[in-house]
Amino acid sequence: MIISKQKDPKEILQYLEGHNKIFIIGCGECSTTCKSGGEEEVKKMKELLEKEGKTVTGYCVPKAPCIAAQVKLELAKNRKAIEASESVLVLACGLGIQSVKENMRVERPVHVGCDTLFMGEVDGQGAFLERCSACGECVLELTGMICPITRCPKSLLNGPCGGQDKGKCEVDKDRDCAWVLIYNELKKQNRLDLLKKIKPPKDHTKSTKPRQLTL
Ligand code: SF4
Ligand code: SF4
Repeated sequence: MIISKQKDPKEILQYLEGHNKIFIIGCGECSTTCKSGGEEEVKKMKELLEKEGKTVTGYCVPKAPCIAAQVKLELAKNRKAIEASESVLVLACGLGIQSVKENMRVERPVHVGCDTLFMGEVDGQGAFLERCSACGECVLELTGMICPITRCPKSLLNGPCGGQDKGKCEVDKDRDCAWVLIYNELKKQNRLDLLKKIKPPKDHTKSTKPRQLTL
């Protein structure tokens, strides 16, 4: 899922300066899980804007605003409230925000309510963990399912740098060195032979942006 964090209210209020009638759009998927733009956060934002003297003409929380069909449906259902607004505030990741902008049929300025952080796993404790950087050329098969591109701050492909100390990463002493984790995992699987397979330099054309996949 896409991990996002709501922006500081002061920053949001600056974006909305000069606009008094606002329509709010949240996200029923990732931003609900991250508590950056679910129904609860949208209602809190409505209260905050009203306290600041603004009128909230309405709000909606599409299941996934990053999916054109879903956002179009919600925008159509809320057309009158959007027409009554001067601008639209989106509490979702960068994909959701841009999808709203691209699918709006009513010309209104769109404002950003969240910062998008990373693609993350949700662990058992409810923490969000960055585990994949969408490099376009997955090497997990050779690394015991531990991603060196994402979990090593230097994205090293063929073993650790000289800085690891007692299994910890030199960039952040509180974290395990990704390559020590990979070694331990491959040892457990009796697959240390995989460490001898030299991985060629990354083909960065596979992650040149913007990427598109059409089915
Ligand atoms: S190697 Fe890492 S960054 Fe690349 S696709 Fe696999 S998990 Fe994602
Ligand atoms: S100590 Fe390990 S995880 Fe940290 S930068 Fe070096 S190789 Fe990467």
